[in-house]
Amino acid sequence: MTVDKRFESLFHARVQFQGREREVELRVPAFREIFPLILAPEHRTPDRMAVMFPAEFKRLIKSMEGGGLEVEHARALYADPQAAGQIVAARNRLFETIAEQGLTYLQCPHCFNWEAEVNVTALTTALQAGPWPIIDQRLFLAVPSLAQHLPRFSRKRRQPCSSRIRFQLPSSVIGLPAASRSGVLGDADAQDGALERAAWKRWTPSTELDKTGREQWREDVTGFRAALRLTAALKYLDGLSGEIAPEAVLQMPATDFYFLDNLHYLMHNVDITDEAKATIRCGRCGQPFLLAAAAEN
Ligand SMILES: [Zn+2]
Repeated sequence: MTVDKRFESLFHARVQFQGREREVELRVPAFREIFPLILAPEHRTPDRMAVMFPAEFKRLIKSMEGGGLEVEHARALYADPQAAGQIVAARNRLFETIAEQGLTYLQCPHCFNWEAEVNVTALTTALQAGPWPIIDQRLFLAVPSLAQHLPRFSRKRRQPCSSRIRFQLPSSVIGLPAASRSGVLGDADAQDGALERAAWKRWTPSTELDKTGREQWREDVTGFRAALRLTAALKYLDGLSGEIAPEAVLQMPATDFYFLDNLHYLMHNVDITDEAKATIRCGRCGQPFLLAAAAEN
């Protein structure tokens, strides 16, 4: 699989560093590589960020001037405000542009025989909200929507909501290698939180042996909380056999995770202010429905 030419330029940046311009090639890290770097705003002290940013640069930069990036280079890049700023800007563009390339298919709740195909831009326009930010203050990895329990929007509407939310992941749309291409998204807060509680019980390591390599699989780790809640919300993911485990989410390119985090927010949390704008008519039975997910009990 090769990346669609229209997106190639996102993977290349020119960075002014130590007196000359360098060619930097970027990559999209798996969510497993970056979730431990997501901090709540009150934890982003200069000391912490002096560790987190070089760690992120090391995962983000595939090569500089054709060579690999050692951790001391990553630290030197962070110590240089101009170079660090250029890398952060390139990362913001890469993550935000790719995460927007996913597609959503909302099933008609009247005939169950038709799906509205919508991209992220169309959804955010119809719902007059979002996307949920990937980057905070144009600098930090933001806290994902799924890391918190946001209020669900009121479904007391004239029109019914979509009966199923299917998606195609951005990686599959643009040609980035990934284990899964598509799936069905449910609600992380279904069954009054019982679904999530069961997922914590099922997947959190309990013995010391279990914890090896999973030291960050904890509720107080912001990025893992989001990954676990997405695990609970996913109803189907192709390319997998058996039940959906946190590994399925952690191995995703980070941009696939961010696409789903935003989609979950748009489908479950955004309060619809203009019902007419958020309504679509089924292409088969002609009946109207809302571009949002029905409540799951
Ligand atoms: Zn229909």
